[in-house]
Amino acid sequence: MYNVAYVHDDKCVAEKGCRLCIIYCPEADTIMMDLEKMKAVVVIPRCKGCDLCKVVCSTHNAITMHPVNQSTGEIIMGAKEGEAAGLGQAYAG
Ligand code: SF4
Ligand code: SF4
Repeated sequence: MYNVAYVHDDKCVAEKGCRLCIIYCPEADTIMMDLEKMKAVVVIPRCKGCDLCKVVCSTHNAITMHPVNQSTGEIIMGAKEGEAAGLGQAYAG
């Protein structure tokens, strides 16, 4: 089981110009701007669960990590976070 990132619209301030998660995500086209909502959104099948976006969003805490059902590819909200890939943790020190 692995984690993917999830953006909480109520905390994301992308409409004020924040793009930190989009800039720092090491995977191309994985966190995108939803131009209708003006919020960041994660493309679940592309996310590697590295935690880096969660680290760079620590001021607003708009991103949480959640396991994915590997059969269906769906995010399991409310489930305990699994082991991270470690990249973001390395950045966090
Ligand atoms: S870093 Fe956080 S607040 Fe900024 S765009 Fe990404 S999710 Fe939104
Ligand atoms: S967890 Fe890593 S790969 Fe997934 S969206 Fe965040 S920065 Fe990108």
